[in-house]
Amino acid sequence: MPEAQLLSGKTVSESVYQSLIPRISALQSKNITPGLAAVLVGENPASKVYVRNKTNRFRKLGLFTETHTLPADTEEEDLLKLIETLNTDDRFHGILIQLPLPNSIDNQSVLLVVDPRKDVDGFHPENMGLLTSGTPRFIPCTPKGILRILEHYDIETEGKRVAVVGRSNIVGRPMSILLSLKRNPGNATVTICHTRTKNQKGITNSADILISAAGVPNSITDADISEGAVVIDVGINRVEDDSEKGYSLVGDVDFNSVAGKASAITPVPGGVGPMTIAMLVENTVEAAESTLPK
Ligand code: NAD
Repeated sequence: MPEAQLLSGKTVSESVYQSLIPRISALQSKNITPGLAAVLVGENPASKVYVRNKTNRFRKLGLFTETHTLPADTEEEDLLKLIETLNTDDRFHGILIQLPLPNSIDNQSVLLVVDPRKDVDGFHPENMGLLTSGTPRFIPCTPKGILRILEHYDIETEGKRVAVVGRSNIVGRPMSILLSLKRNPGNATVTICHTRTKNQKGITNSADILISAAGVPNSITDADISEGAVVIDVGINRVEDDSEKGYSLVGDVDFNSVAGKASAITPVPGGVGPMTIAMLVENTVEAAESTLPK
């Protein structure tokens, strides 16, 4: 039986939405409805689900959203033109480019064209630079959501050893930077592990907090963590099975094995995933607020 405390992103995200309601009402009283443009290129089934879940949440909160769906063979130039149009459309305070893009399109060129003030995913190099300097504008949604979970459950990060598994620009790298910044949550000693890391177990085994964003199902077991560690599972991996859907979604962490040794753990689903959506809404509300006269 699991003994670890369950860190519920579902619960934390609901409190985020509650806190956003008065901010949204204040904007609406000034005739501003926070708006998000979502751009989806191609037929990736997981991406379609992510965009639908995100935009449904915007609608549920009475926010404005529009999804621009383009075929997989879209020319990069046409995608860039669409983004430029969205940049100047005042109905949209945030622009979301759902990744991954088809291989024929250069991710970096596309992210560079998004107006940094509408870059609610925080992927533009200007926003990444601000984050690295310790003065973030938009914090990427998944790492921001993880910070919120740690805050909500009063998990101390100062002086702690943190191991982050994964160095992607959207999760692992910003996560490691944020936790090493001189702020709270932060002030941690962070080690980032990746595919070229030697003796990863030796690093994760001595971490007080382990954050796994490798995208490898069940790759973290009780042998990879220290007794009483806090374990944050970012992974969302499709594993084929005999169910009606033909697959199930699992994290990077072997929950049953780890829950008996960790002090706290996020589940999949219901852990980091709901927080990513909540932070996208929060960043879009912030973007809308930033258009108000100072
Ligand atoms: P990615 O493939 O871009 O990056 C994975 C990183 O993990 C790479 O840096 C790689 O070096 C590292 N890695 C891969 N295998 C490894 C291994 N065996 N040991 C050590 N490091 C390894 O993926 P991503 O976009 O960062 O996403 C990671 C996972 O998180 C995926 O499962 C993704 O679906 C999930 N995800 C979840 C959310 C959420 O809201 N919960 C958001 C984004 C991504």
